[in-house]
Amino acid sequence: MGGGVFGDDFGAVADLWPVGLFRTDLTTGRTETNRSARILLGGQAVDAGGAHWVERVHADERTMVEGALARAMTTGTTFARTLRLVEPDGAETWVDVRIDHTLGEHGLPGHAFGTIVDVSAAKRRELETAALRRIATRVASERSGPRSIFGLVAEEVALLLNADAAAVARVDGDSARLIGHYTRSDAFLAPADETISLSAGGATEQAVRSGEPARSQTDGRVSVAAPIRVQGEIWGAVGAVSLSDAALPDDAHFRLGSFTEIVETAIAAADARRELTERAERDQLTRLANHRSFHQRLHAELERCRTERVPLALVLLDLDHFKRVNDQHGHQVGDEVLREAAARLQSAARAEDTVARVGGEEMAWLMPDTDTSGALAAAERLRGLLHATPFPTVGELTASFGVADTDEARDADALYERADTALYYAKQSGRDRCVVYSFEVAEDLI
Ligand code: GH3
Ligand code: MG
Ligand code: MG
Repeated sequence: MGGGVFGDDFGAVADLWPVGLFRTDLTTGRTETNRSARILLGGQAVDAGGAHWVERVHADERTMVEGALARAMTTGTTFARTLRLVEPDGAETWVDVRIDHTLGEHGLPGHAFGTIVDVSAAKRRELETAALRRIATRVASERSGPRSIFGLVAEEVALLLNADAAAVARVDGDSARLIGHYTRSDAFLAPADETISLSAGGATEQAVRSGEPARSQTDGRVSVAAPIRVQGEIWGAVGAVSLSDAALPDDAHFRLGSFTEIVETAIAAADARRELTERAERDQLTRLANHRSFHQRLHAELERCRTERVPLALVLLDLDHFKRVNDQHGHQVGDEVLREAAARLQSAARAEDTVARVGGEEMAWLMPDTDTSGALAAAERLRGLLHATPFPTVGELTASFGVADTDEARDADALYERADTALYYAKQSGRDRCVVYSFEVAEDLI
């Protein structure tokens, strides 16, 4: 390059220019480049017709670039694209390439004048912002549990860092469980949910020990990790691994920071949601289902048992002379006794049963696929459990039980009323007993 305002110094000035410049005579293939172009295009890459650099374009885009470039060359027009160049060692550079073409004699290709600029930093920020936005959208969606968020985080991290695999790990001491997981090559990662021990000096181990992002390199693998904190404690880590050193950018472990932050937010949101549900559905003293959720379950189970043509039994129980406990030992001891009685009820129930606190010292036990004889046996078993071990401080404590099933009850209210009538009868006839509802029981009470 020569002439113009720079005179013979043009080459020297061009070499100082931060933008890559190149010019190719498309007839001879002779190419001139400035220093920035040589760095970005890799030394000799523009020689031999200026086409060689195209071989370094990312495989996904190469065919498209070759076609567009050939068209621009033969029609004397401009080629302009943002592309990914891949180094032989796997490192990626995003570049803006613009090549203006001129036509020579007889409409043959003339010259190509190109500029090339490294836009990797801006492109990475843009991709990262887009990835974070996708994750944030999922975090905000009510229906997605943390599982699906962790999986998406792993996938976005792997793609963004050009890693072979990435994961969100729940760390507990020296071991970790992959709770979100993305891999391009299965050889890398333990199966999801399997507990693995952290390798000493590995990126994850370093990150959770130091509380800082870490990078490690062991037998050909590079891994990066950053810690996840929940309520001030290290909860786990987000990590990525690659077989090729250069494929993970130098600052990869620092770039994990925005992802750990969003994972922390997702965990906090899920915890808050779980606590709200708990509060809404459970009795705070005994941890049994509360009145409201019991009645929801009662209606749902009734529907299901009807469809499946199986009986549904309900046992209502009320602690005997509980006022005395409060009067003699105080309310706090009363609360302890309630908790203990609830625990015994819970231990007597099957997994498919619902146990609830439906009043002060009144509890309900809903048993699907059970009739009154099965429910009576279960209630007697619990009565035995109350007798078997004295309660702390207060000693012996009994309860009365009313048992009913759906055999004759039309709906939820009828079932509840019958169990309640039977309970009342149990109280009337001396307490510490189980009474099954029958027409005679109801008659007797009138
Ligand atoms: P009965 O054998 O007839 O059931 O006699 P009872 O003394 O248990 O009588 P009742 O069911 O009428 O009284 C229940 C008592 O339970 C009244 C109340 O002081 C007490 N209670 C209700 N809720 C709680 C609670 O959350 N904690 C404590 N400590 N006591 C409660
Ligand atoms: Mg009572
Ligand atoms: Mg009562």
